[in-house]
Amino acid sequence: MSLDTHFVAGSWRRGADRLDIRNPSDLDELAGSYTLATADDVRDAVAAARAAQPVWRAATVEQRSLVLDSISRALFDRKDELARIAATEGGKTIPDALGEITRAGHLARFFAAEALRAPGETLGSVRPGVEVDVTREPVGVIGLVTPWNFPVATPMWKIAPALAFGNAIVWKPSEKTPGISVAVTRIVAQALAEHGMPTALFNMLVGAGPQVGAAVVDAVDAVSFTGSVNTGRRIAVRCAERMVRVQLELGGQNPLVVLADADPGRAADIAVNSAYFHAGQRCTATGRLVVEDGIHDAFVAAMTERMAALRVGHSLLPDTQIGPVIDEFQLTKNLGYIESGLREGAEVAAGGTRLDRPTRGWFLAPTLFTGTSNAMTINREEVFGPVASVIRVRDYEEALAVANDTDYGLSSGIITNSMKHARHFQANVQSGMTMLNLPTAGVDYHVPFGGRKMSSYGPREQGRSAIEFYTIIKTAYRAL
Ligand code: NAD
Repeated sequence: MSLDTHFVAGSWRRGADRLDIRNPSDLDELAGSYTLATADDVRDAVAAARAAQPVWRAATVEQRSLVLDSISRALFDRKDELARIAATEGGKTIPDALGEITRAGHLARFFAAEALRAPGETLGSVRPGVEVDVTREPVGVIGLVTPWNFPVATPMWKIAPALAFGNAIVWKPSEKTPGISVAVTRIVAQALAEHGMPTALFNMLVGAGPQVGAAVVDAVDAVSFTGSVNTGRRIAVRCAERMVRVQLELGGQNPLVVLADADPGRAADIAVNSAYFHAGQRCTATGRLVVEDGIHDAFVAAMTERMAALRVGHSLLPDTQIGPVIDEFQLTKNLGYIESGLREGAEVAAGGTRLDRPTRGWFLAPTLFTGTSNAMTINREEVFGPVASVIRVRDYEEALAVANDTDYGLSSGIITNSMKHARHFQANVQSGMTMLNLPTAGVDYHVPFGGRKMSSYGPREQGRSAIEFYTIIKTAYRAL
C-alpha cells in the first residue's frame, strides 16, 4: 500500500506521520494507511498552483470544458471502484455511495458546459463615444476545505466551477476520508494531463484541520469551505483579516413540518428517509419533526413501525439500508445528545442505543424522541447522526414559528395537501432551500445550494450561481 498521500506540484508525496483508517463497519479491518501533510507541503502546493494558474487561465474555454468532461466520464466509468472505497472508509452503503459519485459526475458535466458559456457583456456608456465591457476573470488560487460526509460530491461542486472559470486549486479534504480523496485527485490529475494542462494547478493535501487546513486558508486567494459552524467562523475571521473572499456552507437543524391533512404513512416515509438515511450525517437531514396535534399519534405510530423494519449494519452488505456512523468521536457525540434529550425530559419512541452487529462497528439505532420542546438542546444544536425529535404543535401558525425559531436555516420541508399552507410556508420559512412533500435532504446538482443564518455565509454554491464566487468582475471603459 502506497503512503504517497499528497498531490503537490504535479507529483505524489509522502507525509511525515502515519494515518491509519479503520472500516467503521468492521474495526478489525484496516481500510487504508496514509500519511499526514505538513505546513511545508502547503507552501509548496500554493507556490505550484500559483505558477501553473496563468497557463490554465490562458487555456481556451473548450480546453477547460474538455478537462471537465474527462473528469465527469472518469467518475461515471469508475463509480463502482470509488463507491467501494467510500463505503469501506466512510461507512456509506453502496447505493448511497453510488448516488453520490453519480451526482459528482453530473456536477463535472454541468460545469463542462458552463465553462463554454462563461458570460460577459458590452454596454453603452453614459458618455458619448465610450463603450463598457463587463467581463469575469479567474480569482487565482482557490483553497477548498471539505468535510467527510460527502467526500466526492462536496469537493466536486467546488473543484468543477473553480476549474471551469480558470482557477488553480489547493484542496484540503477531511483527514477521515483520505482514500477517496486520493482516488478523486488521480482522476482530476489524469484529466489535466490528458489535455496537456499542467497537473500542478491541482493540489491535494490530507492533514489536520488546525495545521494544514489553516495554512491553506492563510495562503490562498479565496476559500470555499464546507463543514461545521465553529471551524467556518474561524476561517471567515482569518479571511476577513487578509481581505480574501470566503464562502461557507455549514450545519443545519432542519425542520420538517407535518400538517394534520397529510397521510401519516406518506409523511413517515418522507421523514424516515429525511432523518435517518446516510445515518443522519447529511447537513440537510431532518432533525426536528414539527407535527400538528391532529396527526401526532398516527404519525408517531407510522414512524415507529417503519423504524422497527430499518436494516442497520455493515455498509457493504447488500440488504443494509443504514451503515454505521463514521467514527468513535461521532458515535460518542450522538450518544451524548441522546443522553441530553433524556435529561431534559424527552421520551425515546424508538432506538436510543448503540447496536451490536456480527462485526465490531460504530452502529447506532435510528432514534426518535417524542415529547420534546424546541428549546431542548437536541433541537437547538446540530446532532449530525440518526436522531430526530417530534415537536407537537397546535396549528400551522405555531408550526411555522417553531420551524423558524432556530439559529440555522439550511433546508426545511412541509408535508401537506393544502395549497394555501404550502405556498405560505414556501414564502415565509427562513431557509435557503425548502421542500414540499419531499425529504429536507436530497437536492439537484444544477441549481443553487445554500442556506441562511448560521448555515451559510457568502455567495451560493452550485448551478449558475457558482460563477459569483469563482470569478472577479472587471469593468473596462473604452473610448472609440
Ligand atoms: P469540520 O468543521 O470539523 O471539518 C471540516 C473541514 O475543515 C475538515 O477538512 C477539517 O480538517 C477542516 N478544519 C478543521 N479545523 C480547521 C481549521 N482551524 N482551519 C482550517 N480547516 C479546518 O466538519 P466535519 O466534522 O468534517 O463535517 C461535519 C459538518 O459539516 C457538519 O456540521 C455538517 O453540517 C457540515 N456540512 C455542511 C454542508 C453544507 O453544505 N452546508 C455539507 C456537508 C457537511
